[in-house]
Amino acid sequence: MLQAYCVKCKTQREMQNPQPMFNARGAAYTQGTCAVCGTKMTRWGATELHAAVGDGAREREGERAREREGERARERESERAREREIAGAET
Ligand SMILES: [Zn+2]
Repeated sequence: MLQAYCVKCKTQREMQNPQPMFNARGAAYTQGTCAVCGTKMTRWGATELHAAVGDGAREREGERAREREGERARERESERAREREIAGAET
């Protein structure tokens, strides 16, 4: 069982349903939920799960992560646009 730090329990907990993930830079991490409280938890570093999914998954995940970051950037931009509209409506 993988262990990771749970920010809610403030201690190391077993990770349930661990998923091998890669960020936009190709760094390996594992995401799962705390076995005790169910809070989402992240543990950095490659595991045997990452070895099992291989380098193809690393590239696909990297692309998906970059897409997600692009979406977040667009969301932030549209939020700023809404804020400007609100500011403009008030003056
Ligand atoms: Zn917890």
